[in-house]
Amino acid sequence: MHAMVLKQIGTPLEWTERPDRAPARGEVRVNVLACGVCRTDLHVIDGELSKPQTPIIPGHEIVGRIDALGPGVAGLQIGDRVGIPWLGYACGVCPYCVMHRENLCDRPLFTGYTRDGGYATATIADARFVFPLGEQGEDAALAPLLCAGFIGWRSLVIAGEGKRIGLYGFGASAHIIAQVARWQHRSVFAFTRPGDSPAQKFALGLGAAWAGGSDEMPPEPLDAAIIFAAVGDLVPLALKAVRKGGRVVCAGIHMSDIPSFPYSILWEERELLSVANLTRKDGADFLKIAAQIGVVTRVTRYPLQQANRALSDLREGKFEGAAVLVP
Ligand SMILES: [Zn+2]
Ligand SMILES: [Zn+2]
Repeated sequence: MHAMVLKQIGTPLEWTERPDRAPARGEVRVNVLACGVCRTDLHVIDGELSKPQTPIIPGHEIVGRIDALGPGVAGLQIGDRVGIPWLGYACGVCPYCVMHRENLCDRPLFTGYTRDGGYATATIADARFVFPLGEQGEDAALAPLLCAGFIGWRSLVIAGEGKRIGLYGFGASAHIIAQVARWQHRSVFAFTRPGDSPAQKFALGLGAAWAGGSDEMPPEPLDAAIIFAAVGDLVPLALKAVRKGGRVVCAGIHMSDIPSFPYSILWEERELLSVANLTRKDGADFLKIAAQIGVVTRVTRYPLQQANRALSDLREGKFEGAAVLVP
């Protein structure tokens, strides 16, 4: 197999040949057909997360086909098309797993961060943490659903039932979640980098009721806001944009520092919270809904060997929607 490997934090990924490995008990080996590029991959490469580890193969939005089964795998066959997400393993016995919050597991493994991921021609996954994808939909178009979609969905659920939803940072997650929120008969208010009119146009094209810069106030107070951008400065802006009792959800795994802000913008029972990782139930619920809605993803394809270019384009906001690597 070949992979784009992070050998040292802060350096470009390197095209590397690795020996093929047979899946161990409970594992499947998957030929990668497509792997989405997520902002978290940038945090891994930049060493911004708490467990930097090298060498590692990034990538946790994997669509592929099973080509080998380890002993003891039930319910999956060679040839099945599956998705492999960020949560690669949870222990099942810690207090969080026991209370159905495996996203907070004390001993988790994360694909593309603490176990090798999908910037590769093949990968190995714990069979209990892969999602059968069926044959509907194109490989590259499905890849962003596996993190941008899953985490976006968890964030939307946590944002509550309000009708007016603000989305800060209109990238891979927001362009999917805007479609879900519209389908739920909610109004979407899209906040982009100030002056990014292509992104604002993109949001309006997906049914947003309003689109503007993150430094602007929406035309009416929001019931809830989800912050997808990794920018702490957005937290006070979003708190100002939500109504009394409104909720601000930080969806990312990392954010720049949040500046201090006056208590008055949190007061009146506004809530500020974060979303971490996903449970398998989030993934299963979202895949069902995405198929029902017919979620359409905007993807820009890059050959696997050009992963570094895809990452720098993501960093610079050079494309709408999501980048996807194809072998
Ligand atoms: Zn656990
Ligand atoms: Zn991700």
